[in-house]
Amino acid sequence: DSRDFDNEVESICPFCGVGCQVSLKIKDGKVKYVDGINGPANEGRLCVKGRFGFDYIHHPHRITKPLIRREDAQAKGLNVDPANPLTHFREATWEEALDVAAGGLAKLRDTQGGKSIAGFGSAKCTNEEAYLFQKLIRQGFGHNNVDHCTRLCHASSVAALIENVGSGAVTATFNEIENSDVAIVIGCNPIENHPVAATFFKQFTKRGGKLIVMDPRGVGLRRFATHMLQFRPGADVSMLNAIMNVIVEEELYDKQYIDAYTENWEAEKEHLKGFSPEAMSEICGIEPEVLRDVARLFAGANAAMIFWGMGISQHIHGTDNSRCLISLALMSGQIGRPGAGLHPLRGQNNVQGASDAGLIPMFLPDYQTVTDDGVRSAFTEVWKSGDFSAEKGLTVTEIVDDIHAGNTRGMYILGENPAMSDPDVEHARDAFAKLEHLVVQDIFVTETACFADVILPASAFYEKSGTVTNTNRQVQMGRPAVTPPGEAKQDWWIEVELAKRLGLDWGYTDPSEVFAEMKLNMKSLDNITWDRLVNEGAVTYPSLSPTDPGQAIVFGDGFPRPDGRAKFTPASVIAPDEAPDADYPMILTTGRQLEHWHTGSMTRRSKVLDAVEPEANCSLHPKTLRTMGVEPGDMIRLTTRRGSIEIMARADRAIAEDMVFLPFAFVEAAANILTNPAVDPYGKIPEFKFSAVRVEKQ
Ligand code: SF4
Repeated sequence: DSRDFDNEVESICPFCGVGCQVSLKIKDGKVKYVDGINGPANEGRLCVKGRFGFDYIHHPHRITKPLIRREDAQAKGLNVDPANPLTHFREATWEEALDVAAGGLAKLRDTQGGKSIAGFGSAKCTNEEAYLFQKLIRQGFGHNNVDHCTRLCHASSVAALIENVGSGAVTATFNEIENSDVAIVIGCNPIENHPVAATFFKQFTKRGGKLIVMDPRGVGLRRFATHMLQFRPGADVSMLNAIMNVIVEEELYDKQYIDAYTENWEAEKEHLKGFSPEAMSEICGIEPEVLRDVARLFAGANAAMIFWGMGISQHIHGTDNSRCLISLALMSGQIGRPGAGLHPLRGQNNVQGASDAGLIPMFLPDYQTVTDDGVRSAFTEVWKSGDFSAEKGLTVTEIVDDIHAGNTRGMYILGENPAMSDPDVEHARDAFAKLEHLVVQDIFVTETACFADVILPASAFYEKSGTVTNTNRQVQMGRPAVTPPGEAKQDWWIEVELAKRLGLDWGYTDPSEVFAEMKLNMKSLDNITWDRLVNEGAVTYPSLSPTDPGQAIVFGDGFPRPDGRAKFTPASVIAPDEAPDADYPMILTTGRQLEHWHTGSMTRRSKVLDAVEPEANCSLHPKTLRTMGVEPGDMIRLTTRRGSIEIMARADRAIAEDMVFLPFAFVEAAANILTNPAVDPYGKIPEFKFSAVRVEKQ
């Protein structure tokens, strides 16, 4: 009887940024099943990952004891069997493992300088763990070379938002679509990637809301759309500028709003003159009349929202893409009212919170810049330690290059799997193999842990206490439902023990003490306390009083920028980094599938999810397959300028005839062997959404 359980615990789904609240039913010390409960984002709903993707925490591959690389182990590489890591590692006590882990980092620091060490935290961390991680790198090594997977996700969106509206978070919760009459969903596939948010989008269309979907892939939401703009990959700026050109030429813009709340409008208007729908149609592949229709529909809305995802951000012009979306909302006066706003849909369950907590190389918590002396001294005062560098740190891909350059020689990686997730991943794997000392803290022997000198067994989300912040700015309480297996420990405890061994005076005994410290220099957490979160489960920031559940909509009366004005930043068309040619004639784009989460370490160890989607696959248009003489289910070879993989082909009419869609969860056909490491100059995000590729029948 599945209803038979000993106790139930409320927590947060560990996967996507929607942040669904769950009730975990526990039997004999294990999670038996999961129900959705009435969280502010999910209102009782769950998707297949939230409902069935919990049993990875009881998988036999869990690391239950600290592991130290054996002296006689083979050279570092993907040669460790996660089911039997003892061929390369030996078990150790916590005391020994922590001493070896911290000792190796300290030795490099003391002999080569603090910059010889870098850190990758993770959006799988709680807010408190993320805060401690960036503090450990900054306080322990004196610099800012600390980053996490936001760099591969929405870093360019955040760069554009901070630049133009003064804050990197969403201006309205996705649930606000309930009050919209028009919505744009661009560069994302919420039915697979934010499935519970997608249910609200579908409901919106059911009550008459007009949905405009824009994506080079014909994503599932098109079935609910009044307009589906399947534009040419990489042609976002030309399409969006053409839409804005119509709004300017037909004077559909909101002059009163622009005058009251924005700056640089005249420059934007002038810039847009060169982007008529006729001129842009050939570049973006959308008919001029469709561009005009969409412009009129959006500009004429009473309340409109714009949602976007990695299809916007993961380009070398990702920041420009977001600048266009911000300009479109500003010129139409669609920010700061019920049903109006900008919403980049966050990927991971705590990518918003980990970024807020300062797990990024250019910002301290709450996006306070590291280059500001006053900001740094406010933190060192609370941290009771000397200064750290005023220089912005290196990002994820820059740290990998810095290893190859011989400067970064040791790393501490918590919960991140860059040996799968980095672009041109063989280049990243070669770098990790070169490190003199690598400490990995995780729940499995991930591909990255294969390169470690010490592996510290950590906790899955349902085994720990801590807060997380979802895409809606809702800070929510995660509660432990089961105990970690064997000798695995809570992540904050491991961070504290390492910090002590690095000579730091850290005396935390509970994550609530970390949260209290965070509040001292994070205004976003004003009026939000640990006790409130324990009692209320979630509070949205900003919260204006100790009883305010938080503001779903912000910037109704101006922006956190000079003079309270948001800014128009014109964007020009920039071609993708590499163009298809005779050798690589098609376009590769990568992403997620409904059942699998990022690099697959959790969901491929979840029985139901792995059963539903067990095999590496990619999708092409059926005509493309026919031309090649390939049947769906056959193996094909994909080759780019970086490498080559063999993978099963699927037919999907929604894919353009010159495109391949490739999920990145499968190590046996790792998508990032193929991807282009070229980055956006502002957000430093790689161009995962466009690589030139050759497709061959096997
Ligand atoms: Fe979890 Fe996201 Fe699915 Fe909600 S929508 S259950 S947060 S994966």
